[in-house]
Amino acid sequence: MSHETVYSIASGKGGVGKTTTTVNLGTALAQAGKRVAIVDVDLGMANLAGFVSLTPDSTTLHDVLAGNASVEDATYRLAENIVAVPSGIGLDEYAETSPEGLREVVSELRSTYDYVLLDVGAGISHETVLPLGLADAVVLVSTPEPAAIQDSRKTIELTARAGGTVAGLVLTRTHPGSDISHPDLADRLDLQLLETIPEDSAARESVYAGTPLVAYEPNGPAATAYRHLAAELAGIELDGTADDPDADDNTDDNDNTDTTTAEDAAGSETEDGNSPESADETSATDDVSSAITEAESDH
Ligand code: ADP
Ligand code: MG
Repeated sequence: MSHETVYSIASGKGGVGKTTTTVNLGTALAQAGKRVAIVDVDLGMANLAGFVSLTPDSTTLHDVLAGNASVEDATYRLAENIVAVPSGIGLDEYAETSPEGLREVVSELRSTYDYVLLDVGAGISHETVLPLGLADAVVLVSTPEPAAIQDSRKTIELTARAGGTVAGLVLTRTHPGSDISHPDLADRLDLQLLETIPEDSAARESVYAGTPLVAYEPNGPAATAYRHLAAELAGIELDGTADDPDADDNTDDNDNTDTTTAEDAAGSETEDGNSPESADETSATDDVSSAITEAESDH
């Protein structure tokens, strides 16, 4: 079985650190030599756009889903080994887009990159539920606050209904001195605790600097935790400890100078027209619709 390479980064509550996790997990994987695409599926927002220099007529995921552009047109190089597909900001265009087309976008990116991370919006709607079932696994992001943990249950439920799997929990903005037991929180959700990301003022500063935290302050507590998360998910050897004996190719040390750049990976010559290999695609849209209907009727 091939290992998981497409992750949805999701949460029940907004503002808990999904975009921070997507950008920094992605960059940490890229620093370890993996080729990574991060995708802003939060169609109503434009979070990742902060890391890409876009002009009003730049091509975005919106244009791809509207059938007006190719995935490559909406792919922007962030740094070595990592590209972003920003969502775009034109709310008026939103009605014209087809979230179902996301399946094709993911399938194409999957064939080009080692890892694809989908930054998913919070809440219950078609574009938040679809990626939960599309990904190989969902990384659930939450702060330790009761309201956020409670909302996480909804996302776990929606993921199951969308036919997806939750890989585990990433607790963000944790306070080392707190008396909350983080493993207990994960236990209560019946999830594996993948990592805790401590509160770190550099997280916000890095956003203003337009630089991912793991590059902005690589030895800070949050950046270090994001590198551990990357190692855990990818089975990369880190600090001499292998998380996964089956770790695949390309486990060079960090700070390598891999000759394959993200630009190469995103270049037109790599567009080989691979067709989607998944056989169970046709029913997914129905699954998503019924998952949304069921979730809404719960309230
Ligand atoms: P989401 O994408 O879930 O809405 P963000 O990643 O945008 O959340 O994070 C929300 C806010 O929290 C941002 O201002 C971000 O800089 C801040 N933040 C995220 N992670 C941390 C952290 N570990 N320490 C301190 N602030 C953080
Ligand atoms: Mg976000």
